Amino acid sequence: MTSIESGQGKGAIELRLVTKRYGKERVVDSVSASIAPGEFFSLLGPSGSGKTTTLMMIAGFADVDEGQILVDGTDIVAIPPQRRGFGMVFQNYAIFPHLSVYDNVAFPLRARKLPDAEIRERVGQALELVRLERFADRFSRQLSGGQQQRVAIARAIVFQPIVVLMDEPLGALDKNLRYQMQVEIKEIQQRLGMTVVYVTHDQEEAMNMSDRIAIMDSGRIEQVGRPAEIYENPASNFIARFLGEANLIAGTIEEVGAGMAVLRTAGGLRLRARADPGVQSGVQANLFVRPERVMIARAEGAAAAEPALNFVSGRLAQTSFLGNILRHAVEIEPGVRVTVDVQNASSGLFRTARETAALTWAAADSVILLR
Ligand code: ADP
Repeated sequence: MTSIESGQGKGAIELRLVTKRYGKERVVDSVSASIAPGEFFSLLGPSGSGKTTTLMMIAGFADVDEGQILVDGTDIVAIPPQRRGFGMVFQNYAIFPHLSVYDNVAFPLRARKLPDAEIRERVGQALELVRLERFADRFSRQLSGGQQQRVAIARAIVFQPIVVLMDEPLGALDKNLRYQMQVEIKEIQQRLGMTVVYVTHDQEEAMNMSDRIAIMDSGRIEQVGRPAEIYENPASNFIARFLGEANLIAGTIEEVGAGMAVLRTAGGLRLRARADPGVQSGVQANLFVRPERVMIARAEGAAAAEPALNFVSGRLAQTSFLGNILRHAVEIEPGVRVTVDVQNASSGLFRTARETAALTWAAADSVILLR
């Protein structure tokens, strides 16, 4: 039987039309993706979108109903999980509480029957990477949540796998520790050059850690790209809403040409945005713009007919204090609110409700998304 041993290959993963059914439902539906060696690739999506099932099929804990999964060109679908040679850090893949930190991390090496001296050296290196060298003799149950997760990471990388699979590994940790661990995991991944497939429902975590993100919905990959690419150019209304805050202003397309379009709102405002060739006059659409790309000024300035910019005046309906950010809701037409985020750089920026506000943003910062 074939197996993928550590040290061989590079860790390229290819999913080809991978499908998983439970009953009649295709919970993973013809998913294809090419993950490069050494890439940090995240599956991001709402609960139930098929992220864990996809990862479980890569791991070998769930059978593939249709399609292929290739690692460095070899189809691994028929290979049992323990022979795939992947490191794993799962939500429910707990460390052994009755074993010491050292014995937990040594476990995969003993299973591979490595000589004791080599085990000692490798466990030492792995514990150093996760900064637990002083805790080798502790029982794992005596550690904090963050330390326990570091043990799980050390155990996953100690045998130098070319591929590491992680499913919400930081889900149980509080926000500050989670951020710190994101940075640490990313550093370890870059140092060791391993391919990581990472499941999360946390958008910021995915953006912070990933080379590329695949956004999943209802068993399908809806969009794949670098974090900034997806954030700036969401392919659909769902993705615009799912990854970060988004304004989606409804209207009808009135003009198209040269990669741009004019959208007319119900109240007659004309707004410019980038548009794909598929966008045609007369169709219903949303204009997407991020809250931090909209500038807000107190009074309406001289609204020159500048095609590169959108100008709208409105009434400030509400301001939320989010610490570093002030989030303004500006009503530009009855029932249509635009969210504007302003850095809380000076106390003078806080505005009071009912003021008139002039909004400006670059046409290039908005995109037409068909409804
Ligand atoms: P996610 O990780 O994105 O939250 P999952 O992959 O866990 O999503 O689940 C996708 C869908 O498959 C869900 O609707 C879930 O209820 C269903 N599902 C997952 N595992 C099983 C199973 N063992 N039996 C039946 N349905 C399952």
